[in-house]
Amino acid sequence: MSRDLVVVGGGLAGSEAAWQAAQRGIKVILYEMRPQKMTEAHTTPFLGELVCSNSLRSNDPQSAPGILKNELTLAGSLIMQAAQVAPVPAGSALAVDRHLFAEFISERLSGHRHIEIVREEVTMLPETAAVIATGPLTSPSMAEELLRVTGCEHLYFYDAIAPIIDGASIDPKKVYRMSRYGKGGADYLNCPMDRREYEHFYDALLQAEKVEPRAFEENKVFEGCMPIEVMASRGFDTLRFGPMKPVGLPDPVIGREPYAVVQLRSENREMTAYNLVGFQTRLKWPEQKKVFRMIPGLEHAEFLRYGSIHRNTFFNAPALLHNDLSFKRRSDLFIAGQITGVEGYIESTAMGLVAGINASLKLRGMEIPPVPPASAHGALIRHITESDSKHFQPSNINFGLFQVSAALYKMRNKKEKKATIAERALAAWRSYLAMVTDA
Ligand SMILES: Cc1cc2nc3c(=O)[nH]c(=O)nc-3n(C[C@H](O)[C@H](O)[C@H](O)COP(=O)(O)OP(=O)(O)OC[C@H]3O[C@@H](n4cnc5c(N)ncnc54)[C@H](O)[C@@H]3O)c2cc1C
Repeated sequence: MSRDLVVVGGGLAGSEAAWQAAQRGIKVILYEMRPQKMTEAHTTPFLGELVCSNSLRSNDPQSAPGILKNELTLAGSLIMQAAQVAPVPAGSALAVDRHLFAEFISERLSGHRHIEIVREEVTMLPETAAVIATGPLTSPSMAEELLRVTGCEHLYFYDAIAPIIDGASIDPKKVYRMSRYGKGGADYLNCPMDRREYEHFYDALLQAEKVEPRAFEENKVFEGCMPIEVMASRGFDTLRFGPMKPVGLPDPVIGREPYAVVQLRSENREMTAYNLVGFQTRLKWPEQKKVFRMIPGLEHAEFLRYGSIHRNTFFNAPALLHNDLSFKRRSDLFIAGQITGVEGYIESTAMGLVAGINASLKLRGMEIPPVPPASAHGALIRHITESDSKHFQPSNINFGLFQVSAALYKMRNKKEKKATIAERALAAWRSYLAMVTDA
C-alpha cells in the first residue's frame, strides 16, 4: 500500500491536513492552484491565506471558539502556531497580521521534509488516498468533478443561513408547540404575532442596516433562498404568505390562527438550540439582535449564530460523509475545511486537522477512533454528519452544537455552565489525542 497522501487545496484546512499527516511521517503531495489560478477572494500565492477578516474570533477559553482553538493548540495545529507568532492587538479576540501569518504557514510547509508542494489546479479526484480541501471557492472544474461524483442534490454553491438562538432564552409562556395542520408531531415552536406586532416588526425589518453583497455574490442567485428582508421589501403581506404564514397553526391562547407566525425548528436532538425557519438574512448582526428580539417570545433571545448569506461551495455532508470525514462511497477520500459544511477559519482548520489525522491512520492500516462528541471538534463533526440532510446548513462553532446533559443544559449560572462545557471538552480531547498522537 502506498503511504503517500494527496492534499488538494493549500488554504487553512489543506495546510493543516498536510501538516498533521507529514508530522506523522506520511509523505504528502500538496496541490495548490494559486498563483497560476486565483479564486475570487484570494490575492496572494501564500498557503493559508485569510480571505477576509484577520480575526480568529474570541480568545476567551470559555467561549465556543476559545475551546476549539485550545483543542487545536493541544493537537499541535500549524494554523494555531502561525497565529501565535503573528498576533495583533484585538481585545479579547485573537487577530493576526495576515501577511506574517500566511508567510509562516507557507515556510513551514515548504520546509517540511515530508511535503512536496505542487502549484497546479486539480480537476479530477485523485485515485489514491486524498484529502480534498478546495474551500468555499472551489475552482469551477473541480466543482464540476464533485458534482459528477455527488449528484447536484448534494453539492451547494451558496449558503443562506438563518439565525440560531439558545432554547433556554425563549419565553415558553409566549410560544406554542405545534406542526402545521398537526402534521409531523409537535416539532416546531411558534411565535404568534397580532397585526400591530407584525406592522412594527415589518417596519423595523425594512429599515434595518444590511451587509452589502460582494461583487461576485450576485443577488439574482439568491431567488431560491431569498433573504427575509428582500422578501419583506416585495410587499406588506409577502412574509405572511411565506415564512410567517399562520395557516394551520391556531394559537391555543386565542383559539384561532394568529395574524402571522414565526416558526422555530430545533437544531439538535436535545432541543437546546432553535433555528428561525426561513429567516436567512443579510442584516448586520446588531440589527438582527434588535429586530428579531421584537418577535414575541424572543425578547431575550441569545443568539448562538447570526444569519448570513455567502457564496459557498459545500457538501450535503450528512448524506455523503462518514464521521471520520471520509466519503461514504470511498473510504480513502477525505474531505476537509469549509466544504464539509462548517463555517469559519478555525472551524475549517479543525476539519483539516481531523481529516489529516484520519487519513494518516487509514494509510497505516490503523483503527480510526471517533472524535469525542463532548469536544468542540466532535460537536462540529456531529453537526455535519448527524444533522437532518433535508435541512442541512453550514455552522460555525457555538454552544448550541455541544452535546450536553439535561442537568447541564438547565444550569442557571451561565458562566459555570460554559466553564463545565469547556472543561469536559478539553478532557475528552486530551484522551482522544493520546490515542492518535503517535499514530
Ligand atoms: C469571501 C469570503 C470571506 C470569508 N470571510 C471569513 C471571515 O472573515 N472569517 C471567517 O472565519 N471565515 C470567513 N470565510 C469562510 C471560511 O472560513 C474561509 O473561506 C476559509 O478560508 C475556509 O478554509 P478552507 O481551507 O476550507 O478554504 P480556503 O482557505 O479557501 O482554501 C482552499 C484552497 O484551495 C485552492 N483551490 C481551490 N480549487 C482548487 C483546485 N481545483 N486545485 C487546487 N487548488 C484549489 C484555493 O486556491 C485555496 O487556496 C469567508 C469565506 C469567503 C468565501
